[in-house]
Amino acid sequence: MIIPPGSIIGIIGGGQLGRMTALAAANLGYKIHIYTPEKHSPAAQVSAFTTIADYGDKPSLKAFAKSIDVITFEFENIPAESIQYLEKFCPVRPGNLALHVSQNRLREKKYLNEIDVSTAQFFAVRTLKELEKAAAKCGKPGILKSAEFGYDGKGQHKVFAHADLKKIWKESRLKTAILEELVDFKKEISVIVARNSYGKTLCFPLAENVHENGILCASRAPANISLGLEKNAQRIAIKIAENLGLVGLLAVEFFVTKNNQLLVNEIAPRPHNSGHWTMDGCETSQFEQFVRAVCGLPFGPVGLTAKKTRMVNLLGRDVEKWPEILRNPGAKLHLYGKSEAKKGRKMGHVNYLEF
Ligand code: AMP
Repeated sequence: MIIPPGSIIGIIGGGQLGRMTALAAANLGYKIHIYTPEKHSPAAQVSAFTTIADYGDKPSLKAFAKSIDVITFEFENIPAESIQYLEKFCPVRPGNLALHVSQNRLREKKYLNEIDVSTAQFFAVRTLKELEKAAAKCGKPGILKSAEFGYDGKGQHKVFAHADLKKIWKESRLKTAILEELVDFKKEISVIVARNSYGKTLCFPLAENVHENGILCASRAPANISLGLEKNAQRIAIKIAENLGLVGLLAVEFFVTKNNQLLVNEIAPRPHNSGHWTMDGCETSQFEQFVRAVCGLPFGPVGLTAKKTRMVNLLGRDVEKWPEILRNPGAKLHLYGKSEAKKGRKMGHVNYLEF
């Protein structure tokens, strides 16, 4: 189904991903309605309409869904019941399955393994006993992560040999968790694939990513990897998107191991931080492609516009560097309109282009 320009796209979530999607959607003649519990959100600042309400508030969800032509998400961690409720009134893209799978790390990894996609070894952990068993079975250093609502390294604890598991479990205050083997990776890369409701797919060139303390610091595109590895990563991303019946964008983060094996770390059914380089370094940005995919429009081309693009996140007070960034002719600055520069908070990003 084509949702033509002039229609209203509803976006769940009010963060920077919603903001940049709204800007791209406006360029294509759409109006955006943001649904978020947050007052003065980055996305609401640039959107035509906003509903400020909780993700479980059914009367508000209903009024929102009835006032728009299609719903999509910049934030997937909303109650499953709310997603099913929204579906009664309006088409939901990327779709229930994609959201359900990506909301929970355990479910996500099990699903990936079921469709023959490799991940790091993992174990479900709900009690100290289960953590002890999992650590013994894993036999290597691991990372204990929250199964739900974890992002940007939040709720993660490294588990080394002879660690005091009782202390780690108590301090983590986790209820449902996953213990993953710590992967000794060579690189981290990511692929973003667009898929529309007709089943057509198109991948962006790959990005190579650097994380610190679980937060993405920088990406560069194109990734410095072999053509074979690139094709393989894209093939895996397309396979996941097809299996999920996803409509929109799917970001797939991989570890590249020392012997060039690809292990999926995480998937996200929406635009992704590691795709921000496309705003200046690609013929079509991930946000425009997202809108095109959700609305059933033809995809835009994904050729590189620069030899190399390096995206650097502005975390916390890094944002104060804006004057010097603006003086650099090779730098493109994107700020998210957030007022408080808390430590580690994503305030904006810069794309440095090399021709
Ligand atoms: P996540 O929140 O799972 O995306 O993790 C954030 C970052 O932490 C990843 O991009 C890696 O840099 C690191 N990390 C997460 N899980 C693992 C793992 N199993 N082995 C090695 N590094 C990891």
